[in-house]
Amino acid sequence: MSPRLVCGTCGLRLPRGSLRLQCSCGGLLEAHPAPSLRGVRLRAAFDRRREGDPAGEGSGVWRFRELLLPGRGPLVSHPEGNTNLYRRDAVARWAGVADLALKHEGENPTGSFKDRGMTVAVTQAVRAGATALACASTGNTSASLAAYAAQAGLPALVFMPRAKVAAGKLAQALCYGARVLEVRSDFDECLRLAREASDELGLTLLNSVNPWRIEGQKTIVLELLQQRGWEPPDWIVVPAGNLGNTAAFGKALREARELGLISRLPRLAAIQAAGAAPFYHSFRAGFRRRFRVRAETIATAIRIGDPVSYERAARAIRQTRGVVAAVSDREILSAKAVVDGAGIGCEPASAASLAGLRQLVRRGIVGPRDSVVAVLTGHLLKDPRVARGAPVVIAPRVSEVERVLKDL
Ligand SMILES: *Cc1c(COP(=O)(O)O)cnc(C)c1O
Ligand SMILES: [Zn+2]
Repeated sequence: MSPRLVCGTCGLRLPRGSLRLQCSCGGLLEAHPAPSLRGVRLRAAFDRRREGDPAGEGSGVWRFRELLLPGRGPLVSHPEGNTNLYRRDAVARWAGVADLALKHEGENPTGSFKDRGMTVAVTQAVRAGATALACASTGNTSASLAAYAAQAGLPALVFMPRAKVAAGKLAQALCYGARVLEVRSDFDECLRLAREASDELGLTLLNSVNPWRIEGQKTIVLELLQQRGWEPPDWIVVPAGNLGNTAAFGKALREARELGLISRLPRLAAIQAAGAAPFYHSFRAGFRRRFRVRAETIATAIRIGDPVSYERAARAIRQTRGVVAAVSDREILSAKAVVDGAGIGCEPASAASLAGLRQLVRRGIVGPRDSVVAVLTGHLLKDPRVARGAPVVIAPRVSEVERVLKDL
């Protein structure tokens, strides 16, 4: 049966090869992959490719191609994925669990997990004949889109909230040659504008409303399961803003179990910043009510008040018996100091996962013996202004160095 797009809200089915990215009812479309292999045979195919060239068969995204984009053709790939799982005793001890691995998605080519979704969505856009690409962004989506548009030779238009994007991300979007529009408003308005402008002006929208972004981001989970020999951890912890990743993780886990790649579902923990926590408020209300807030947090990548993937993320939390937590900016900065101090490093939003894990352990929700994979979503250099300490200014004399050495 050929894979197709299905509307998550009204159930409308679109044929394979459809150019549409949103349903006329306003609902989000979802891809339904139908691989010809299942279970151990599918696992074996994935494992065999992992031995291949990381820029080809061994790509951390395209190695899972049966579950991503139907059809064959050239790929717009840098490549992506093959990110490390780090184990550091000091970090695990701080969180309060013995078995913790950090999956560092900041090791993707533009420094965030967005590249995994972008390679799939831009590849699809090129195949569908797109002439101009667009996105709204808190920063990393635009950095990623700019790079993939440059590689594909297509113009890119990015909408950013004015003065709320970290310096590294803005620099990337400009250097890769995207046309950057700084909107005098917040991210939520930027996304509304980008959706409207795309509809009216024929731009291809590369936000996570684009179903192919979600398909690519599933590979974070597929790759971490594979790195663990297909033995799921008890928990997967992820920072949550617009909820594309939470939705993608739920979809990846559902498909992995249906296809017999794994036999048990890990529980998902989605972590929001307390100043941008509408999904957390919904979770506390048993998902009976959808909240929208005016968002504020130092973690600009998750500074989002009206997350677009709300419904499918709620499904991901329910289906995995997951939880949603909220952490203060102080907790985020403490966690970032621990990740940075272990020599790994991440941007502020990424540290929300570790901060949330520590809180969930303290609340007795995650057990000290549970196995946990926490996802670090972006690279330390994305947001150089959120740095600990400051340089010491000295004259060029050894005595001055000696003075500094004494207080180390
Ligand atoms: C995009 C992003 C997030 C939020 O992911 P969502 O899918 O929007 O929930 C978190 N951290 C970083 C670094 C990001 O770039
Ligand atoms: Zn619909």
